[in-house]
Amino acid sequence: MNIHEYQAKALLRSYGAPVSDGRPVLRAEEAKTAAGELDGPLWVVKAQIHAGGRGKGHFREPEAGEKGGVRLAKSVEEAATLARQMLGRTLITHQTGGAGKQVNRIYIEDGSDIARELYLALLVDRQTSRIAFVVSTEGGMDIEEVAAKTPGKILTFSVDPASGLSDFHGRRVAFALGLEGGQVKQCVALIRTLYRLFVEKDMEMLEINPLIVTPAGDLKCLDAKMGFDGNAIYRHPDIAALRDETEEDPKELAASKFDLNYIALDGEIGCMVNGAGLAMATMDIIKLYGAEPANFLDVGGGATKEKVTEAFKIITSDPNVKGILVNIFGGIMRCDIIAEGVIAAVKEVGLTVPLVVRLEGTNVDLGKTIINDSGLNVIAADDLSDAAQKIVKAVKG
Ligand code: GDP
Ligand code: MG
Repeated sequence: MNIHEYQAKALLRSYGAPVSDGRPVLRAEEAKTAAGELDGPLWVVKAQIHAGGRGKGHFREPEAGEKGGVRLAKSVEEAATLARQMLGRTLITHQTGGAGKQVNRIYIEDGSDIARELYLALLVDRQTSRIAFVVSTEGGMDIEEVAAKTPGKILTFSVDPASGLSDFHGRRVAFALGLEGGQVKQCVALIRTLYRLFVEKDMEMLEINPLIVTPAGDLKCLDAKMGFDGNAIYRHPDIAALRDETEEDPKELAASKFDLNYIALDGEIGCMVNGAGLAMATMDIIKLYGAEPANFLDVGGGATKEKVTEAFKIITSDPNVKGILVNIFGGIMRCDIIAEGVIAAVKEVGLTVPLVVRLEGTNVDLGKTIINDSGLNVIAADDLSDAAQKIVKAVKG
């Protein structure tokens, strides 16, 4: 789960990390008061979306002189005007995809003067099962280019969980970033703080880009991105409360409410499968026969009729879906439950695309009878490869 920059900065602030003062703005009429509460003489007006690259992004149908989603202002009035302009618009960045994201929240921050822009991130390195630091002197808006063209300028190292974090790690970051004097001490303290925050809140990713050095020589977190482990959110009601559902794929959101493991993809064949391994094999075989899956969906072992109905509704709500493949191996899950769920769902939402059903396992005969007696136009399949070929043929002709 991701959160907005202003929420991430509030967390950083509460842990004692250096961030500027700022105010979130949710409605246009709040903009002026919010800006007026900050000291100036520089204000930064920042679109809040769950995607990076805002500074270099652009709005759909831009107005004259309008640039990206991070703008500097020289007065309260100017800051308020920029905030009002951005609210409700669609911001397109290299991370949002072509459709962009609607800006529903703005963050107005006290502007900082910048001497250097650095890069600092913490993440869970799956290869080593450790928390890793990623640092670079080349922070700011071109970090992706640095990673692609001069990867040598990015340093990565991980922390051994057995011995934990020590000041040595902080100093290592400081030297990699070319910090000197009092900045080294600040960096060691910052690394301690970020590491503690990362572990205590079960984060997957914490990115500060840029981490700046001010002209006075102090460190400050100028941007912040945080991702949390969804499986650990139940331990953190304070983090769960920060969830912004408008930022999530509506299909994935609906799926999460019904405890379905669903991931939206770009293809044309909707899949309803039980078991993550079988679901992946089903996606593979759809590709093998020349089509693309529209989703990953594991309805789980103990799915009820209601859950199957919801899953079916989510699949059919995707306008890209041109056909549906139901592939169930009834081990714990019974085939008759799946059959009933599919039929109930089809009766409720209608079926405008071909549907191939492959059932195997517990109560398979009963399941097949239920489907055959339903009077619905369902194509029965015997095994996985038969099912995949049939749905691809039905969709592609
Ligand atoms: P991103 O483009 O989504 O990563 O948004 P950032 O928050 O990183 O802002 C983009 C860029 O705007 C930064 O790399 C800075 O160069 C600039 N910027 C952000 N805040 C300030 C500020 O307080 N003062 C100045 N001078 N520039 C800023
Ligand atoms: Mg940034």
